[in-house]
Amino acid sequence: MNPPIQLPLADSVLSEVVKQSKDCALSHGFCFRTAANPSSSDTVNFAPHSLLPSPIPRKYFDELCEVQQHFNLLFYRISLDYDFIREMLKNAAVSDDFTSRLLEILETVLKEGIVSAGVLALLRSDYMLDGTTDEMLPKQVEINTIASSLGCVTSHLTPVHRYIMQLLGKYDVEKSLPDNTHVEEYSKAFVKAWEVYGTPKAAIFFVVSSKERNIFDQRILEFGIKKENFDILVKRVTLLEIGSNGKLKDDRRLIINGIEAAVVYYRNGYVPSHFTSDIEWDAVLIAERSRAFCCPNVSLHLAGTKKIQQILAKPGVVERFISDADAVKAIRARFAGQYSLDVGPDGDEAIAMAIASPEKFVMKPNKEGGGNNIYGVDIRKKLLEIQNSEERNSYILMERMIPVPTQGYRVVPSEAPRLLPMVSEYGMFGTLVSDQNGVLLNEYAGHLVRTKVIGVDEGGVGVGASVLDTPYLF
Ligand code: ADP
Ligand code: MG
Repeated sequence: MNPPIQLPLADSVLSEVVKQSKDCALSHGFCFRTAANPSSSDTVNFAPHSLLPSPIPRKYFDELCEVQQHFNLLFYRISLDYDFIREMLKNAAVSDDFTSRLLEILETVLKEGIVSAGVLALLRSDYMLDGTTDEMLPKQVEINTIASSLGCVTSHLTPVHRYIMQLLGKYDVEKSLPDNTHVEEYSKAFVKAWEVYGTPKAAIFFVVSSKERNIFDQRILEFGIKKENFDILVKRVTLLEIGSNGKLKDDRRLIINGIEAAVVYYRNGYVPSHFTSDIEWDAVLIAERSRAFCCPNVSLHLAGTKKIQQILAKPGVVERFISDADAVKAIRARFAGQYSLDVGPDGDEAIAMAIASPEKFVMKPNKEGGGNNIYGVDIRKKLLEIQNSEERNSYILMERMIPVPTQGYRVVPSEAPRLLPMVSEYGMFGTLVSDQNGVLLNEYAGHLVRTKVIGVDEGGVGVGASVLDTPYLF
C-alpha cells in the first residue's frame, strides 16, 4: 500500500518533521514513563510512534467499526454461558495452571451464586490486512477481553499526525485521519456501570502494578471519567493490596482500604507473572464474589482465551450465540483459519499440517500480553516435543497472515529515523454494560494502530516490537 505521503523524505525535511513530531507528541501528552524510571513521572518521554499514519481502505475501517457491536454482544453472551466455557476449556486447563485457576474461581462463585451488579466489558478486536487474500481483507488476529489498553494515549497521537501531515502539505486531515472518541466512550461505560451500582460513595478501583511505564494511558482514562462526573472516586490499587486488605461484608459489598468498590478494573492480573503468591489470587476471588462490577469478570476473561476464539471459528458456534444472520456473516467474514491441537484425530491432522509447513501457521498458548506465540521452525520443534502429551491441548494453531506492507519512519527515543518496510495491526475498541435485566450500552469505542517493521513476528508495544500509530483512510 502507498504511504499517505510520497517517500522517502529529503534528509533536511525528515530531520525537521521528526523534531516537530517529538515536540508535538510531548505537547499533547502522548508520553510514556522511561524504562529506567518506570515508577515515577519525574522522567517521561514521547511514546514510540510512526511518523506518518498507516493506510487502510476507508471501506474496511467502516466495516470494522460496524462489526464491533456484534463482537461485543458475542463475547458478552459467551461470558454468560458458563457450561460452554467450562466444557471448551476443560482440556486446555489440564496443563495450563493459569486457565485452570481462573476456572476454579468460576466454579467457586457459581456454587455460591453470582451477585455482581452487572457486566462491564471493555474489548479490543485486532486485525491485519491479510495479503494472502486478493482483496487484502482485514482478518482478526485476536480479541482482548482484559486490560484492552493503549487507546487513551493513542488518541493523543491523532492531533500529532494531523499536524505532521499538514506540515508535509496534506490538508484534508479531518477526513482522512478520523477522530478518536476512545476516552469519551470508555469513560461513558465506566460512569454507566458506576451508576448501575448505585452507591454514590463507592469508587472505581484501577488494579495496577507499581511499575508502570504506560501510566498516562490509565490516567487519561481516569481524567476522562472525572470529566464526565467529578464526584466519582477513582482509586489505584495493586492486587496485593486487595488480597491483603480487601473485606467482603455480609451483603457482599467489597471494601478496599476502607472504601466500597463499585468497579474493579484490571490493568494487571492477566499473565501468570502478575501473581507472585496466593494473595493476588485471593484478590481476584474476593472481587469476583462481591457485588462490584469486575472488568472483566472471570468468565469474560476466560471467554477471551485463544482456545475459545479457535472454537468460535468452527461452523455453527457463533450461531449458538447470535441469531441475526447478517451479524453472523459480518463476524465470520473476519475470521482467519484456526485449528485445535487437542489430543484426537482432528488435532493429529492439524499437527501433521503444521509440521509439514510451519511457515504457514502461528501456534498460540492461552496467554496474553505478547511474546508467547511460536513461529516458523520452532512450531515444528515444539509439536514434535509435545505431540504425545496433553500439553498440546493448551495451544491452538492459526493460519499465518502476511500483512500488506507499506513504508514509513519510526520515531523512537535515541533512534535515527530511516525508511523501513512496515506492517500494521488495527485495533477496534468496544464497550458493553449490562445490569440484571440485560444490555444497557453497546458501542464501538474508538481505535488504535500498532505498526512494526516487516519480519518481526510479535506485535506488542509493551514488548518493544511495535510503535503506536493511527489510521489513514483512503
Ligand atoms: P497476545 O495476546 O500475546 O497479544 P496475539 O494473538 O495478539 O497474542 O499475538 C501477538 C502478535 O503476534 C500479534 O500482535 C501479531 O503481530 C502476531 N500474530 C498473531 N497472530 C498472527 C497471525 N495469525 N498471523 C500473523 N501474525 C500474527
Ligand atoms: Mg495481541
